[in-house]
Amino acid sequence: MISAPADVAAAKAAFPGWAATPRAERARLLHAIADGVERRVEELAQVETADNGALLRSHRRGVMPRVAHNFRFFADWLLTLGHEDFETRGHTNQVSWDPAGPCVLITPWNAPLMLATWKVAPALAAGNTVVLKPAEWSPLTASLLADIAAGAGLPDGVLNVVQGLGGEAGAALVSHPDVRRISFTGSVPTARHIAGAAAANLTPVSLELGGKSPLLVFADADLDLAVDLAVEQYDNAGQVCLAATRLLVESSVAEEFTRRFAARAAELVQGDPREEATDLGPTIHRRQLDKIDGFVRRALDAGARAVVGGGPDTARGDLYYRPTLLADVAQDSEIVQEEVFGPVLTLQTFDTEDEAVELANDTRFGLAATLATGDRERAERVTARLAAGTVWVNCFFVRDLRAPFGGSRHSGIGREGGTWSFDFYCDVKNTVTAPKGWRDHG
Ligand code: NAD
Repeated sequence: MISAPADVAAAKAAFPGWAATPRAERARLLHAIADGVERRVEELAQVETADNGALLRSHRRGVMPRVAHNFRFFADWLLTLGHEDFETRGHTNQVSWDPAGPCVLITPWNAPLMLATWKVAPALAAGNTVVLKPAEWSPLTASLLADIAAGAGLPDGVLNVVQGLGGEAGAALVSHPDVRRISFTGSVPTARHIAGAAAANLTPVSLELGGKSPLLVFADADLDLAVDLAVEQYDNAGQVCLAATRLLVESSVAEEFTRRFAARAAELVQGDPREEATDLGPTIHRRQLDKIDGFVRRALDAGARAVVGGGPDTARGDLYYRPTLLADVAQDSEIVQEEVFGPVLTLQTFDTEDEAVELANDTRFGLAATLATGDRERAERVTARLAAGTVWVNCFFVRDLRAPFGGSRHSGIGREGGTWSFDFYCDVKNTVTAPKGWRDHG
């Protein structure tokens, strides 16, 4: 491992050569990285599961193939990136996307390689060089990616991986004056440090942060579908930024919904993340489990009622938290307002559409929202009023890289995906050319 400033220096030195590499050649190399990822899917899946405890079957069949897809998608998008020229009083306007320079990418532990490659792939495709710092709790697949990229023929210094603690390696990277972009996915407190450090150099920052997203269940919804959507929020032991952790259910169906939810939750298989049958693995770290349990204890002390779960599963060791649903929670309570980042959901009821929207929007976050309703007009009305970067209607977690992804308020600044990624990682230029002044035209 080399120190953070040395990595920025390597990225700076490699930048002119990579920026000048023709688009088609950059795209070819990204496809070669995707090939390398595909050849090593099993190894990457095994290593990621050993590192962060998320399900092996998801890594093997979903996540790692998607990692390869991330490279292919942005390689292909690069080749179509463009804007139609337009005229102003006979002058031609031509928009281009110029590489910005060395980019620092800082990522969290809950979906390490997946989230890293949402940044690495467009940053490289755009012609930038990269310094990637993965989370200290899940460092391994980033280093494997560097190995794959080198094997694919990516020139030295174009993709650099720094391993280290956030407050040390990460802080050194984000305050470096030679860095042209900082893209961060992680928590709100860390985002504040990063935004402060970036401000000193006026480095543009993209922030993908936490959430406290709602799932709104209306009485006209297919209740079994709504229950499925709710149980899905325990995915990755609840360590998902997008998780709809606040279940808001119309009063008239709340009792029936809760009964069916409890029955479905009881069927979840919790255990070793390497087993095919497992639905819910461990939390990543004892410190994370203690944090989750702290939230639940305080909520119970404040009068919440555990409808499902409500504590760690100590019989399985010290990393497993039982899927939990808490009712009788106040809107202004900590458990409703703060991100727990574990398998803990809250249940609240509403009587009118207005009340549902009011509850849904009443946190400092704005990452996502999920709606279960059988009424299309209601879906449109409610969606228009929700503060959320993504709204899923009668579905959850469908993610297309052409779509913008990100949050408002304390859930972040900026969007990732398609042209939105290139807008961030590039210095967008407009060239205005006059019709006169050419030698051949006199
Ligand atoms: P975190 O903020 O603790 O750490 C994220 C990264 O920042 C790590 O690599 C860490 O080493 C680094 N870091 C810490 N201090 C730093 C500093 N002073 N300077 C520079 N880097 C520093 O977050 P986490 O606990 O790893 O991840 C969980 C959080 O991430 C949750 O809040 C979750 O919602 C959020 N998240 C958001 C998204 C999204 O797309 N919106 C996706 C996944 C996770």
